[in-house]
Amino acid sequence: PDEPDLEALQHADVARLLPVPSAESDKYRRGVVGIAAGSARYPGAAVLAVSGALRGGAGAVRYVGPAADGVIARFPETLVSDHGPAKAGRVQAWVVGPGVGDDAATVAEVLAAEVPVLVDADGLRLADLDAVRARTAPTLMTPHAGEAAALLGVAREEVESARLESVRELAARYGATVLLKGSTTLVADAPGGRTGVRVNATGTSWLATAGSGDVLSGLAGSLLAAGLTALDAGSVAAYLHGLAGRYASDGAPAGAHDVAESLPEAWRDTR
Ligand code: AMP
Ligand code: MG
Repeated sequence: PDEPDLEALQHADVARLLPVPSAESDKYRRGVVGIAAGSARYPGAAVLAVSGALRGGAGAVRYVGPAADGVIARFPETLVSDHGPAKAGRVQAWVVGPGVGDDAATVAEVLAAEVPVLVDADGLRLADLDAVRARTAPTLMTPHAGEAAALLGVAREEVESARLESVRELAARYGATVLLKGSTTLVADAPGGRTGVRVNATGTSWLATAGSGDVLSGLAGSLLAAGLTALDAGSVAAYLHGLAGRYASDGAPAGAHDVAESLPEAWRDTR
C-alpha cells in the first residue's frame, strides 16, 4: 500500500520511542552527545543547546567550543574539552552549528565523524554539500524556512508556500534526514528511508523566540546519542519541544531557557 504523504506524529508512537535507562545502564551506555556550538559573539547558543541536550536522554553531554566557561557556570554536569571535535573523546552523536558564527573548520571536522550528526543554524550555511553527501553515518539537518531557502537558493516565500516539496527536495539533495521548522514541523527521511513525511503540531507560536531552535537541536542530538534514528530523534524532539513550549508559555511570553526547563514535564506527560 502507498504511504500517505504526511504522517501525523501520534502520542503513542512518541511514548514508545522515549529512551528509558535499564538496570544495566550507565552514563556511557545511555549515550554521550557532543555539542559543537557557540562563539565569542553567540555564547548563549552553546548554553541553550546544552540545556536541551541535558533533557534528551543521553547519559552525558560533552561540549567543545569557546563558550565552555559559560556552559559550566550554568550546567556543571557538562563535560568540556580543550580540543576540537575530532579529539574531544568518544561521543555517540554530534550537534554542530548553533551560534558557531564563521567557524567552518569545526563544522567540517564534525561532518567527518563516523557517528550521527545534527547540523543546525550557522552550521547549515557552512556545511559543504559534498561533505554531507559523503557521510556514511546518518545526518539530520534542522533548518527554519529562511535557512531552507538559502540552502535551496530560493526566496523564503517559496519555501513557505511549498513546505512539503521543500523538505523533500533538501533531503534528496543532501542525502540527509531534514527537519523543517515552523508553525508545524515536517521531518523528511533520508533517501531510501521512510517516504511519508512526519508532521508535528504540538508547538505554539510563543516558540517563535530567540534561542528556541538551539534548545531543539540539543534535545534532538541527545535522542540521537541515545540510539534513536535520525527520523525518530527529530520527530520526538519536535513533539516534546512543542509541548514544552506550551507549558513554558501557557499564554504568556517565555524565553528559550524556560522551554528547556519545561522539557522534563513534557517528557513525563508523554511517556
Ligand atoms: P529557530 O528559528 O531555529 O529558533 O527555531 C524556532 C523553533 O520554534 C522551532 O522549533 C519552530 O518549529 C518553533 N516555532 C517558530 N515559530 C513557530 C510558530 N509560529 N508556531 C509554532 N512553533 C514555532
Ligand atoms: Mg535557529
